[in-house]
Amino acid sequence: KPTVAIVGRPNVGKSTIFNRIVGERIAIVEDIPGVTRDRIYGEGEWLNRMFHLIDTGGITFDEEPLLEQMRQQAEIAIEEADIILLLVNGRDGVTAADEDVSNLLYRSNKPVVIGVNKVDNLEMQPQIYDFYQLGLGEPFPISGAHGRGIGDMLDEVFSYFPAKDDGDLEPDTIHFAVIGRPNVGKSSLVNAILGEERVIVSEDAGTTRDAVDTGFTKDEQKYRIVDTAGMRKRGKVYEKTEKYSVLRAQRALERANVVLVVIDGEEGIIEQDKKIAGYAHESGRGVIIVVNKWDAISKDERTMDAFTDQIRKGFAFLSYAPIAFVSAKTNQRVQKILPVVQRISENHQMHVPTHVVNDVILDAVSMNPTPTSGTKRLRINYATQVAVGPPTFVVFVNDPELLHFSYRRFLENSLREAFAFEGTPIKVIARKKN
Ligand code: GDP
Repeated sequence: KPTVAIVGRPNVGKSTIFNRIVGERIAIVEDIPGVTRDRIYGEGEWLNRMFHLIDTGGITFDEEPLLEQMRQQAEIAIEEADIILLLVNGRDGVTAADEDVSNLLYRSNKPVVIGVNKVDNLEMQPQIYDFYQLGLGEPFPISGAHGRGIGDMLDEVFSYFPAKDDGDLEPDTIHFAVIGRPNVGKSSLVNAILGEERVIVSEDAGTTRDAVDTGFTKDEQKYRIVDTAGMRKRGKVYEKTEKYSVLRAQRALERANVVLVVIDGEEGIIEQDKKIAGYAHESGRGVIIVVNKWDAISKDERTMDAFTDQIRKGFAFLSYAPIAFVSAKTNQRVQKILPVVQRISENHQMHVPTHVVNDVILDAVSMNPTPTSGTKRLRINYATQVAVGPPTFVVFVNDPELLHFSYRRFLENSLREAFAFEGTPIKVIARKKN
């Protein structure tokens, strides 16, 4: 999917436009300079094409002067996006900061579309001509407040979309992402995995996508570690700020089947770990929790159990994920990771024949009768698996409203007990059919 990044000075209306395009009015939009924005990453759709949208204004660099922050945001946009949407304020005219950022964008050779925001009525239209002087082509008048002009602007953005590609997951290859907050040891872990015996790394350059992933083969299984760019080189621009590292993690998840959520064993679980683990869970990928730096803590026979408890409590939603205690530094148990990745990838792709699914569901129902509402009882007619990656089941019922959260959870657990779904989320969806 193409990626579009929004850049622009504070308070030009980036998050309003972001929310208009993404279609969910989650961020708080106020006409106050520097208002806090939380959502910086979303999905938009235009002319039947989905694309990613990044609001770089949400990535702030504390204590940097404004101009420097904008430069860094523009750099991120240049690094992450296929197309850049530069937003300016039609009421202010061209400012020095607009010019500065335009220069950076101009040199990047990425396509740039200029949206002149706050052009709320036709009389204001002539104000857009000023913005030709930025040298980036035709400025598009828009009004985030009224939703005007956004379609025309998106038409222009769309015209730069690359030709459709049919996904980038190769068959027979396990794509896995290594995510976690800065300094938990992701890079060290990737290097330890790649440095294992009998791992054959094939750094095939080619498209830009391949260049940021690392392909390798072990025991005749092909793997690809997604988004190793920032990890394997020094500098790690991608971890300049917490927000940016979360953004990178979210994007990596999209191209993975399995994800390693790395925790720092020395520091334990903090709030940011939970956030990242939450994204991993929501992505529907297979998940392994890796506790790294296990060499660095003093242990007795209860330490591992205590840490396991802490993880199970902190990441209750990841109860299906196995936990590996490793040290990237001493290589302790690093060689156990790939077999688990392989197993979980298989579970994630598992397909159960319909008659077997039905046997399990019928058994479950006989153990624990279906819920009722008033005089109406949930009746399950049959169930079938409709998708893999993650395994997704549809149960056909008399009334989907009667399948409450707790009973759905019970059916999920019954399916889990019957099959080897370790490491993968599963989904149970109710559909009406008599
Ligand atoms: P990243 O930011 O998540 O990629 O983390 P790095 O791989 O750069 O590691 C951060 C720091 O933790 C570095 O100083 C590493 O040397 C150190 N580190 C990484 N793995 C281990 C480990 O298993 N044990 C110990 N003691 N230190 C580690």
